[in-house]
Amino acid sequence: MNNKRPQNVRVPWFLMILLISVILLSLIPFRVLSERITAMQLQDVLDAPETIVDVVVELSPDSDAADIVLELSDGRSVKATVEDVKALTSDLRANGIDYTISGMTESSLIDSIPTLMLVALAVFLLFSVLGNRGMGASGGGMNARLMNFGKSRAKLVTESRVRFSDVAGMEEEKKELREVVEFLKHPLRFAQMGARIPKGIILVGSPGTGKTLLAKAVAGEAGVPFYSISGSDFVEMYVGVGAARVRDLFEEAKKSSPCIIFIDEIDAVARRRGTGLGGSHDEREQTLNQLLVEMDGFAQNQGIIVMAATNRVDILDPAIMRPGRFDRKVAVSKPDVRAREEILKLHARNKRLSEDVDLEKVARTTAGFTGADLENILNEAAIEAAMEEREDISERDIEEAFIKTGIGTEKRSKLISERDKRITAYHETGHAILFHELKDVGPVHIISIIPTGEGAAGYTMPLPDKDDMHVTKGQLMHMMMAAMGGRIAEELVLDDITTGASQDIRQVTKIARAMVMQYGMSSRVGMLNYEENGDDVFLGYDIAHNKSYSDKMLSEIDEEIKALVDQCYRDAKAIVMQHLDVLERSCSLLMEKEKISGEEFDRLFENG
Ligand code: ADP
Ligand code: MG
Ligand code: ZN
Repeated sequence: MNNKRPQNVRVPWFLMILLISVILLSLIPFRVLSERITAMQLQDVLDAPETIVDVVVELSPDSDAADIVLELSDGRSVKATVEDVKALTSDLRANGIDYTISGMTESSLIDSIPTLMLVALAVFLLFSVLGNRGMGASGGGMNARLMNFGKSRAKLVTESRVRFSDVAGMEEEKKELREVVEFLKHPLRFAQMGARIPKGIILVGSPGTGKTLLAKAVAGEAGVPFYSISGSDFVEMYVGVGAARVRDLFEEAKKSSPCIIFIDEIDAVARRRGTGLGGSHDEREQTLNQLLVEMDGFAQNQGIIVMAATNRVDILDPAIMRPGRFDRKVAVSKPDVRAREEILKLHARNKRLSEDVDLEKVARTTAGFTGADLENILNEAAIEAAMEEREDISERDIEEAFIKTGIGTEKRSKLISERDKRITAYHETGHAILFHELKDVGPVHIISIIPTGEGAAGYTMPLPDKDDMHVTKGQLMHMMMAAMGGRIAEELVLDDITTGASQDIRQVTKIARAMVMQYGMSSRVGMLNYEENGDDVFLGYDIAHNKSYSDKMLSEIDEEIKALVDQCYRDAKAIVMQHLDVLERSCSLLMEKEKISGEEFDRLFENG
């Protein structure tokens, strides 16, 4: 982001050469593979959108015509020239085909030797300038270090220019990370105090919510080097290479502490060990083991903070979350209305908007969109305005960009209707009322009707205030009741019920089964263990499983489970019914703000 700011110019020359050759090399096969087709044939292709994998519209700088390059599912790449670009793009949009617009016809680079020569000249000039710089002010030492660093394939941003002010919204996330910034700025002060600072922080959130941005901002605020590597870089490597890369990375980082090591997409290496079907995962496990060894290997106060990002914590190996490793988790949530407005404003800073654009309104209609989606909307709108050679971005441009990105986004985060929002608001409040009323669970920390990446329409997050070792029967009952709150609220205020409670029902079932079959909490079944041994992760478990109890016992177990669940349901419903006023008030507040805090929710109980 932040294209206004100058790029970091201290790039080693060999990286530049590499980059340029990669660009050139990638152009050549591209041209060879693309087979020219006529306008008629193009129409045939467009009529079968399911065969299209990728579409690039290449605007030509000196004519109105454009080239369209299509990647087809059979591996072919075809290219056609179109006269009317506008008609084409609206045609693509109408068919729900995603496309990207590239500024210059890529083949024209090859076609015209003069252009190529100009580029070569520019590159040459750039090198000589950079070369001098590298030798001068920053010294050869830095350059040598960068050279070596190539080994670990991590990119070293000597100084991240991103600041917290470049990250809109996310107040809570930033607050949590300020402490880390302070530590990186003054590691000695903390060490002398004997303070224990986390070694590893894991950022969890859907793609595009700004995790990378946030990690960079921490480095930028603290003014420390930012080493970044992506978990997916490790995949498909020869055995041993991944582990060696990790070792190199930490070695380099230790030399320039304080610093931040950022591991993007950590789930690619840190999946639960021993899972997955077929084949061995030696490489991944070795890489993961090396990562754990390295994290255990440096001291708490060595000035290195390892940050990692993932959109799935559930699949991570529990070993990485142990104390002294990634023991701090920061949830990066999708932005609420206010944060969305701030993000839009931030990205509109360098764009000319016409008077009729109302960013607040855009924010209101984009529930479920991530920061990246919002940035994308403004960018698409700017392209649209530029294509039509207008002075500024109009409301219509934004509207069109919204629909377009909306279609693209729909797969991940649906556009949410007012009706759906209301249903979710009632459902989540149902949970929240029970968390608030039941002493063994809760209290409520956050209620949100912003959809999550995992497909939930909203969530209610309790803040358990005790950390008991023993879980009591009462607690388990309260947990089940709280889980039922969503469905109960739907029953009470809607004429019908929805499918939205399936996860809740699964949880209730799981608890009730465990109470009867593992914890001996049903007097009729008694203190017998019917636990299904084995782990869900092993396929073939059902086949291997030996039934060790009679059919009679089985039906008794079922009856006991049902009885427990029914009792919880009756009790929970009675509680929610006593607070129908809170249900209504909370629903309207959620419709307005999308996310409310525990305190705000508590207040709804007071002014009755
Ligand atoms: P993630 O790493 O979570 O997938 P990124 O950090 O790569 O997301 O975000 C992608 C882009 O979206 C950023 O470069 C930025 O332009 C935009 N973005 C996301 N969240 C925010 C935010 N809170 N404020 C400003 N821009 C944001
Ligand atoms: Mg990222
Ligand atoms: Zn629910």
